[in-house]
Amino acid sequence: MGFLDRGVEIKTPEQVDAMRRAGLVVGRTLEVLRDAARAGVSTGELDAIAEDHIRSSGATPSFLGYHGFPGSICTSVNDEVVHGIPGDRVLAEGDVVSIDCGAIVDGWHGDAAITVAIGAVPDEVTELMRVTEQAMWHGIAAAHLGGRVTDISYAVERHVRSQGRYGILEDYTGHGIGSAMHQPPNVPNYGRAGKGPRLVEGLALAVEPMLTLGGKDVSVLDDDWTVVTDDGRWAAHYEHTFTLTATGTWVLTAIDGGEEQLAALGVRFGGR
Ligand code: MG
Ligand code: MG
Repeated sequence: MGFLDRGVEIKTPEQVDAMRRAGLVVGRTLEVLRDAARAGVSTGELDAIAEDHIRSSGATPSFLGYHGFPGSICTSVNDEVVHGIPGDRVLAEGDVVSIDCGAIVDGWHGDAAITVAIGAVPDEVTELMRVTEQAMWHGIAAAHLGGRVTDISYAVERHVRSQGRYGILEDYTGHGIGSAMHQPPNVPNYGRAGKGPRLVEGLALAVEPMLTLGGKDVSVLDDDWTVVTDDGRWAAHYEHTFTLTATGTWVLTAIDGGEEQLAALGVRFGGR
C-alpha cells in the first residue's frame, strides 16, 4: 500500500483482493436485505439481519460504532436520503427504503447501497430509483486509467440531467475507500470533468449518487444522523465500491463484479 498526493491510498493487488472479499459480503448482505424488506418489517429487524449476515460471513459491520452510529446499516425511508438509524419504524406498502451497508474483512472495507420499493410505489418513484442506479453505473463507467476523479462526477450529473428534473445532493459525496471507509478523494455527483486526483491502478472509490424528486437541499434531524429533504420530496441512493485494474473496471461490491452492467455500457471488465 502506498499513498499518492492528497492522501489517496493505493492498494496492492492482494489488498484489492481483500476488498473484494469485503465487497462480496456487502453485496450478498444487500441481496438478503432486498428480500427481507417488506411491509410489516421494521428497520431494526433489517439491521439485525444485516449484522447477523455480516458477522456469519466472517466480516465486521463498518457502520456500527462509526462516530457513534448505533446500527450495522443505514435505513433511510421516503424523504430520508441517507444515514437513517434503524429502529422501530415499520415499513409500509408504498414506502421506499434506502439501505446502506459496509463491511470489513482483514481491515479492508466495502461500501454499497440500494433503494428498495415496498410493494407498489408511484411511477415517478420507480423512475427516480432507476435514474439513480443508472447514474451510478454511468459514473463508474466513466472512470479509466489516466483519467481524473471528476470524470465520474460529470458522467453522473450528465446522465441525471438527460433523464429529467431531479435534485442532486451536493453536501454529500462518494469517496475514496480502503483501509478506512471514508478516505480522500471526495467524489461529487456533479461538476466538470478533468479535475481531482488521477485515476490509477489500485485506487478504490465509492460512487454514490443521492437524488431527489425535488430540490437538492437537505437537513440533519435532531438524532444528529438522519438526512432529510427540506421540501419533503422522496429520495433514492445507490452506491458501489469499484477499482481499476490493468485490464479494466472491477466493481468490488457487485456480486458479478459489475461485469453485466459494464458490458452494457461498453466498459471492459477488470475483475479477477
Ligand atoms: Mg455507503
Ligand atoms: Mg459511501
